Amino acid sequence: MFDNLQDKLEKAFHVLKGHGQVSEVNVAETLKEIRRALVDADVSFKIAKEFTNTVKEKALGADVLTSLKPGQVLTKAVRDEMATLMGGTASDLDLSQKPSIILMAGLQGSGKTTHSGKLANYLKRKKTRKVLLVACDVYRPAAIDQLHVVGEQIGVEVFSDKENKNPVDIAQKALAHAKANGFNAVIIDTAGRLAIDEEMMAEIRDIHQAVKPQETLFVVDSMTGQDAVNTAKAFNDVLDYEGVILTKLDGDTRGGAALTIRSVVNKPIKFIGTGEKMDALDVFHPTRMADRILGMGDVVSLVERAQEQFDEDEARRVQKKIAKNQFDFDDFLGQINQIRKMGNMKDLMGMIPGMGKMMKNIDLDDDAFKGVEAIIQSMTPDERANPKLINGSRRKRIAAGAGKDIQEVNQLMKQFAEMSKMMKMMQGAGGRRGMAQMMR
Ligand code: GDP
Repeated sequence: MFDNLQDKLEKAFHVLKGHGQVSEVNVAETLKEIRRALVDADVSFKIAKEFTNTVKEKALGADVLTSLKPGQVLTKAVRDEMATLMGGTASDLDLSQKPSIILMAGLQGSGKTTHSGKLANYLKRKKTRKVLLVACDVYRPAAIDQLHVVGEQIGVEVFSDKENKNPVDIAQKALAHAKANGFNAVIIDTAGRLAIDEEMMAEIRDIHQAVKPQETLFVVDSMTGQDAVNTAKAFNDVLDYEGVILTKLDGDTRGGAALTIRSVVNKPIKFIGTGEKMDALDVFHPTRMADRILGMGDVVSLVERAQEQFDEDEARRVQKKIAKNQFDFDDFLGQINQIRKMGNMKDLMGMIPGMGKMMKNIDLDDDAFKGVEAIIQSMTPDERANPKLINGSRRKRIAAGAGKDIQEVNQLMKQFAEMSKMMKMMQGAGGRRGMAQMMR
């Protein structure tokens, strides 16, 4: 995320580190570099200039020149100002109305349908809501089908009517259906065009007036840079929406939209989309985002993801097995699956302070565990449950079955033995037990 901006900011701070003494001259130089980095990331010159002016005031107020660690003082000022620029604190959805109505608006291709699904999934999981998805794109039958596919994936009902060409009517019928059937959240996916046009704006305004959503969310592709900001403004003029969902932050996006939408439309970014899968949605936290942009990682989000995926019952079961020294390959597979549910490995690594940069040029397989899994799956159920059975000839058979070298099987066996030993030791040391416990 924001690799280029991260690199440039780091270089900007380097100006300070390179000098033995910090002077007003090299602070000014650093700030100029920061401004340039922001403009390159698609932040408008005006906002970038205001930004560095504020940082300068704050940093000088904090006596950056006489401080023992001027780099840190300046970094902190940049971080705080970035968080402020992005809205300061996270903004939650207002779901007090029953049913809560959420209207999704945005251009075609911005990720509306995908994010209608992600949001439905999020509400279903986090807030234990009964969610109805509504397909209101009357121009593209494929869009309706796409929403049905998404609904099926996450187990959420989709309301649609391919014969009906009146989106306001569809939305109202969907609401009646929701009320009659005990749905407490309704997410309406609307049609988008390739560019803003009067007809589209009139249509979404009509739907907005008819259903009176509690949350109208503007969905925008972060890759479109300054255009994203301009479109955000145009939609806000018509809809006066509640918040923004910024999508495709997993791509090679420069960061300008994330940094400036808030200050241009004065509406919070509520969620960010970080992938095509249904769980690639994060609540937007300005401070954490600032930390990530500055390469400081985001341990809080990492821990939250771990907690979300954490399965208490499974952990207790595994703990018992470890206590009895019975941790086997089936348990191992189970643990791998829990980790995988947390998301893309590279993305996870990026949340660890300092790791993002290190990982940048490493081609980490999206599915780093595939090889290990193939080997375990090539074992018989008996072998998985009782790893001691696995002798030389069995190893050969397992390697052939998994299409791997015998060395790889040997290595896995060795690692597994070491891990079991360590788990036992940790068990002995009391309290913290094994991988399962470490995931907490
Ligand atoms: P809509 O026309 O606004 O409904 O957009 P879609 O939901 O159909 O998304 C357009 C394309 O962008 C699809 O191929 C999605 O898979 C992809 N997409 C949507 N959100 C994300 C995201 O957060 N990250 C990535 N990498 N792709 C996304």
